Amino acid sequence: MMSPRSYLDHNASAPLRPAARAAMLAACEATGNPSSVHAEGRRARAIIEKAREDVAMLVGAKPSEVIFTSGATEANNTVMAAGWNAICVSAIEHDSVLAPARACGAKVIALPATSGGLVELPSVAEALTHVAAGGRVLLSVMIANNETGVIQPIGEAAELARTLGVSLHVDAVQGPGRLPVDFATLGADTLTISSHKLGGPRGVGALIVRDGVSLPALLKGGGQERRRRGGTENVTGIAGFGAAAADVARDRDAIKRAAVLRDRLEDGVLAATPEATIIGRNADRIGNTSCIALPGKAAETMVIRMDMEGIAISAGAACTSGKVGANPVILAMGLGESIARAAVRISLGPETNEDEVAAFLAAWRKVADGAVLAA
Ligand code: PMP
Repeated sequence: MMSPRSYLDHNASAPLRPAARAAMLAACEATGNPSSVHAEGRRARAIIEKAREDVAMLVGAKPSEVIFTSGATEANNTVMAAGWNAICVSAIEHDSVLAPARACGAKVIALPATSGGLVELPSVAEALTHVAAGGRVLLSVMIANNETGVIQPIGEAAELARTLGVSLHVDAVQGPGRLPVDFATLGADTLTISSHKLGGPRGVGALIVRDGVSLPALLKGGGQERRRRGGTENVTGIAGFGAAAADVARDRDAIKRAAVLRDRLEDGVLAATPEATIIGRNADRIGNTSCIALPGKAAETMVIRMDMEGIAISAGAACTSGKVGANPVILAMGLGESIARAAVRISLGPETNEDEVAAFLAAWRKVADGAVLAA
């Protein structure tokens, strides 16, 4: 009999929630273009508007502030393309922020990160003295890092943005379900979320734009989403996203359960391999995420060997770093190439149980011992 697998890669994509699946199946039966005025069209429209309310509720936004997109990558690209003179951003941001920021023609002001995984904001004010007065400036800071789980100083960023008169964008993809997110009080103009990180389907997300802030549509034509995102809406995906958002909002304690298991997992790792480094361990982190480097063991090899033992974990966005196998976030934290090449990410979810943590630790001991090498 095949032993069950432990899926510990929720920061990459969380399993589909049953409520999301049910909502999607029901939405598949709804014929019609949501822009059509007939009964079928209105039914499809109603599915979207219900999901808009559920998504808005999850992040403390108004329904009118929610723009559905094909995912967080599109939402981040939309913000970066909004005609900035300068964009302040650190290298620990996701590539869906960094790549369009570098490509959009704005001056990119690089913010440093601490070895504990926090973006360093005090340098923003100084850096901005080089931007022409009156220029449109964006500060982009993620809510929590997807690799290390380190929670970023959004309050400080909002304060700074207000004082300096710059716009604040928050990539909150790793927020909902892991951290309370309240757009109404966050102090950001724009915020990005993604359905599949919270148990909705892949390929759908939302850009939240504060009422009164206008951003040009990235996808033009059609006038959907009140002219802010052209293209017939992904009714099925949006229905699943809304149902997942409502489910997450109902179970706000899930992250506490995950944190207990994550801490147990880290204690077990340190007991088995005291030489392991747990990255950002002393920082304020989201409770489901652990980033661990085992000296001398390449992350990719660890991931493959753990996979052979039935455990799904991740080696991070290694291929985007330019240095083969070196995690760019860890490099930006200045922890050095050997840790950056060894860092693996384990990310738990609401359904993760003790047996899966035990299975992870059994596999970790075996893989760290090199037992799999000889197999
Ligand atoms: N930002 C962050 C912080 C992420 O973790 C991810 C997904 N890895 C994205 C953006 C992109 O999300 P999507 O898959 O919805 O495009």
